[in-house]
Amino acid sequence: MCDGQAIITVLFIVKFKEAKRLLINDLGRHNGPLLPHIQSRLTTVLQSGWYILGAEVSAFEESFAAYCGVARCVGVGNGTDALELALRALRIGPGDEVITVANAGGYGTAAIRCTGADPVYLDVRPDSMSMDPAVLKTRITSRTRAIIATHLYGRMADMPALRAIADAAHIPVIEDCAQAHGARMDGRAAGAWGQLGCFSFYPTKNLGALGDGGAVITSDASLAERVRALRQYGWTQKYDCRAGHGRNSRLDEMQAAILSVKLPRLDDWNRRRRTINALYSELLDGAGVRLPPVAGENDAAHLYVIRTPKRDRIRTALANQGIATDIHYPIPDHRQECARGTASSACALPVTEVCCGEVLTLPCFPEMRDDEVAKVAASVRQAI
Ligand SMILES: *Cc1c(COP(=O)(O)O)cnc(C)c1O
Repeated sequence: MCDGQAIITVLFIVKFKEAKRLLINDLGRHNGPLLPHIQSRLTTVLQSGWYILGAEVSAFEESFAAYCGVARCVGVGNGTDALELALRALRIGPGDEVITVANAGGYGTAAIRCTGADPVYLDVRPDSMSMDPAVLKTRITSRTRAIIATHLYGRMADMPALRAIADAAHIPVIEDCAQAHGARMDGRAAGAWGQLGCFSFYPTKNLGALGDGGAVITSDASLAERVRALRQYGWTQKYDCRAGHGRNSRLDEMQAAILSVKLPRLDDWNRRRRTINALYSELLDGAGVRLPPVAGENDAAHLYVIRTPKRDRIRTALANQGIATDIHYPIPDHRQECARGTASSACALPVTEVCCGEVLTLPCFPEMRDDEVAKVAASVRQAI
């Protein structure tokens, strides 16, 4: 009998902990309040009888382009395809080099490799962990055909400096904005600084669909037309295939409708994310971990990432209290198994490697309450 009671007690505690578990990004809490709006919008789409490349995709493309302050937006299947189609729109292929960083999750690398081009990695700045313009200058070769600048964790790379160097060398810049929807530098949106800006609408992103989705934005009409053709078999019109390397990578009507419900709320969500960032930084000040720079307008505050050599100990302590953490990202691209034997696997990226060994992501999403932030911060302090 006692055993039975003990089991029930344990089960109750497990259940209780499960219920109170704090996620990195709680999509149930984020999307829950929107479901009535989303459901009614989806009903309209379902009843319309038109599910691929129709009025919803066009409407979202138009409003997202306007939101970003560019002329065109082309909805595609996901963020990695957005990067690949942007590269292909620039006619990048085998024999070409594309400069990028190795600490941003490998999405740019996957897209570059799909085109047959070679990634060339630059080390990152120790403060911002993004591409270092001073290094960029030294690594441009006669084979360099593009630069992919990633706005890591939502924080924009130094676009004025990167653009100046790229422009002087006549090399186009592609921005990876998958973590930076709505960030702005000098009033200009992430994605509007480069020749092309690439977005993912994966559910966890600041602007997330309820499935896969992506977009390429640009103010260059001919690049937009190329991406438009490439996302649908290479067609310029139905059954008229003019662009090589076409495929099927479309944003669908349902996801576009969901994104249209969410876009008007994005700025508020980003403001709340920045407030959470600031609160964390206040509460963790002097705790002995390296804190990210204060999030201003140029930071969509996608992830709150601290740096510490005591990462494993902190992760375990937080996990024991039902607090989820993650590592973005543990293995730099040039050290991945799939890079073995490639020219890029031999490069030296000391700052990148130290960062990958120390970064730790704490929970951050717009619905997170101040007392939850305080609890996480207190747990981090306790664990050090
Ligand atoms: C999520 C992400 C991507 C890829 O987006 P998918 O839609 O998952 O293909 C690309 N770059 C960065 C920086 C990301 O965070």
